[in-house]
Amino acid sequence: MSSPRIAIIGAGPAGCMLGRILSLSNVPFIIYESDASPNYRSQGGTLDLHHGTGLTAMKDAQLWDAFQKNARFDGDYIMMADKQLKPFLQMGPSNKLNERPEIDRADLRQLLTESLPEGVIKWGHRLKRVDEGNTLVFEHTTESGFDLVIGCEGAWSKVRSYISPEGKPYYTGVGLHRLSIPDAARNIPDLVEIVNRGSVIAASNGQRLAVQQMGDGSLHMGWCTRRPENWTQTCGYNPHNLEQVKKVILEEMYEWSPQLREAIEKAHDDVCDPKNLYMLPVGWKWEHRRGVTLIGDAAHLMAPFAGEGVNVAFDDARKLAAAIIRAVQTGSGLDELDKEVKAFEEEMFPRMEVYQRQTDEVMKLWFWSEGAMSDVIPKVMYAHTKAKVPTILHPLAWGLVNSYWFVKTRLLGW
Ligand SMILES: Cc1cc2nc3c(=O)[nH]c(=O)nc-3n(C[C@H](O)[C@H](O)[C@H](O)COP(=O)(O)OP(=O)(O)OC[C@H]3O[C@@H](n4cnc5c(N)ncnc54)[C@H](O)[C@@H]3O)c2cc1C
Repeated sequence: MSSPRIAIIGAGPAGCMLGRILSLSNVPFIIYESDASPNYRSQGGTLDLHHGTGLTAMKDAQLWDAFQKNARFDGDYIMMADKQLKPFLQMGPSNKLNERPEIDRADLRQLLTESLPEGVIKWGHRLKRVDEGNTLVFEHTTESGFDLVIGCEGAWSKVRSYISPEGKPYYTGVGLHRLSIPDAARNIPDLVEIVNRGSVIAASNGQRLAVQQMGDGSLHMGWCTRRPENWTQTCGYNPHNLEQVKKVILEEMYEWSPQLREAIEKAHDDVCDPKNLYMLPVGWKWEHRRGVTLIGDAAHLMAPFAGEGVNVAFDDARKLAAAIIRAVQTGSGLDELDKEVKAFEEEMFPRMEVYQRQTDEVMKLWFWSEGAMSDVIPKVMYAHTKAKVPTILHPLAWGLVNSYWFVKTRLLGW
């Protein structure tokens, strides 16, 4: 068949990765993106890519060399600690087998968008809705005639509303403040040493602080707590005003370690963003609809507590790209394309559900457990572990996690 007309909505990680792999096989497409320009510096924190998903996609996309230049292979140290910064788990920096290199979101967007053919991204195209027959209604124009529309436009996907009006994200009950400390080695050297070029995640019942090293020398922070959905209007302070935000967080952190409290004190007003976390229901899926599909957050938005979102998005992108390329190369027409896309969706639904379940479980444990942290921690560790091993090994995983925790708490005196 002649190449199908393909529209990708959203130039985020999923849309760009999909486009990049299609372009390597000369399959034409257009990406419509709402941002007016690449806007690299406003992209937020850092992401770690994993073997088998994110890193495999980078290799399939022939971007491995460019990725290596931007990634921090010594940046995957992670310390999980209680609010007194007493570590209960430390991992990395890793070896070649289990490395999880970090890359700043800004660098990732630049690397991906610059890898695409010139002019293929139509910036400043915010999709308002999709009308019958795959007509794309943007804020300022309308485009039609597409054989396949792929929704990669994240949490508030309009393509998802077209596929299934019931597929709506709901509020998780967790809100966060994003903050940053520039030139952290000079401003807060002790904490930089503890972060060890990676990240520190400290948690207490219903509260969680993540501190991440960024490639530009800053520390990126996310302070998460349970909040009502309308908290940014009803909280009684301006959540964009750094001094007011610091005061409130420091009150909330009144029992926390002085080093973590100092991190909040040192935050600079480069970044002061409030945000609510939303998710799609675990296991949500849609009836296949010819000529349209979803990947990434548009298909399976989850809260960010397992660090898998971008990895699953990349995995979707490489698998959907392979399906489209197969259909185009067999030359059997749009029926074959539809068959491949349907098969891709059927493979994606159970694959993504594992991560959605893991994230949901971990979030509930961190934010809604009332027991002592020493009871919560092994449950969190088990939730992470069981997502990585087959069901038959879950009892073994449970036993190993609890043995580790017993030795750490009872024999080594955590
Ligand atoms: C606070 C936070 C921390 C996170 N931390 C991690 C982490 O450590 N590790 C990890 O793996 N994941 C993390 N995630 C999740 C990760 O960011 C997402 O899973 C990932 O970005 C999904 O990529 P995507 O391309 O599907 O969607 P997005 O990244 O949301 O990209 C969507 C793109 O579509 C564009 N767009 C949106 N609406 C429209 C429209 N109407 N028309 C046209 N274009 C549109 C957007 O501008 C954007 O460019 C985190 C998420 C949050 C909120």
